[in-house]
Amino acid sequence: MKSALVCGAGGFIGGHLVKKLKREGYWVRGVDIKEHEFAPTQADEFRLLDLREGANCIAALTLDGGTFDEVYQLAADMGGMGFIHTAECEIMHNSMLINVHMTHHAAGMGVPRYFFSSSVCVYRDMQPGEPEMTEAEAIPANPDNEYGWEKLYSERIAMAYGRHSDMKVRIARFQNCYGPEGTWTGGREKAPAAICRKVAEAEDGGTIEVWGDGSAIRSYTYVDDMVEGIYLLMHSDLEGAVNIGNPEYVSVDELVDTVAQVAGKTIHTKHIDGPVGVQSRNFSNARIYSLGWKANYDLKAGIERTYPWVEKQVRQSVKA
Ligand code: NAD
Repeated sequence: MKSALVCGAGGFIGGHLVKKLKREGYWVRGVDIKEHEFAPTQADEFRLLDLREGANCIAALTLDGGTFDEVYQLAADMGGMGFIHTAECEIMHNSMLINVHMTHHAAGMGVPRYFFSSSVCVYRDMQPGEPEMTEAEAIPANPDNEYGWEKLYSERIAMAYGRHSDMKVRIARFQNCYGPEGTWTGGREKAPAAICRKVAEAEDGGTIEVWGDGSAIRSYTYVDDMVEGIYLLMHSDLEGAVNIGNPEYVSVDELVDTVAQVAGKTIHTKHIDGPVGVQSRNFSNARIYSLGWKANYDLKAGIERTYPWVEKQVRQSVKA
């Protein structure tokens, strides 16, 4: 039986990845600084560890009878645009320490395969209508936020250890990912969950506040598609960073319309000042497509699976 360590298993994508690895027959250890808020872990073993400490990374990586076959590093101090723009120092400090220690000890302890979760935040801002950007075009670098700079540096750490050890390193740059069992309130939630929450809280015919003028273009990737991409990439020969994202690009206003449609409500928007991030996105998926990956969920199908879960959380929180 293959063994896998999932760092960040108490989080959104890490929690879904644990389920995928269990379905694939792995023995899984999950580690995180906190337990999963929305679902009991399906890992065979779950450890609460602060991975900013080197000794805790060694503890996470230590396995009776040898090393883990695969390590998936998804732990990060992260959130949506509201968090990214206010917690710059925490992101630069905490996520950097996790990646510096985890990569160093994983290589030193002989881990054969190591996955690092990067982000399309490593790219510069784009204008609507620009041609697709490839992975190589992240350099010369000009990320819009410090979260992107941290990811870029952590990619470089992982690639350096990949070159100077026997550890095979795989790096995905995720587009926005959404789905059930992700943060939906509290300040770290990302746009799809925040919009689902606002629509769930609104009356039919009501108005919700949306940051910016609603024209920013994004793609949103349903979590099941993301997890399939992670798994395919980890077992491939693709070196260097690989974009993973749904090729359907929509404006923030179109995201609101989709959520309202799924909710069966008429919703009006009031655009207010707030941290929006970049104006536009359009990335090449040629590398991940070369492995046979495709997005199986368009935005509507993904929201049909996400909105009812967020709506239930809203209902339960009102009752509590
Ligand atoms: P998440 O916040 O739900 O998960 C990250 C987990 O890391 C959390 O459970 C958190 O507690 C844990 N963590 C933070 N500090 C830790 C520490 N010191 N020690 C141990 N664990 C710690 O986020 P997510 O959406 O599941 O993202 C997973 C990864 O994917 C992150 O690296 C993130 O940057 C990356 N990513 C996510 C998206 C997205 O849209 N969700 C997009 C691009 C990249």
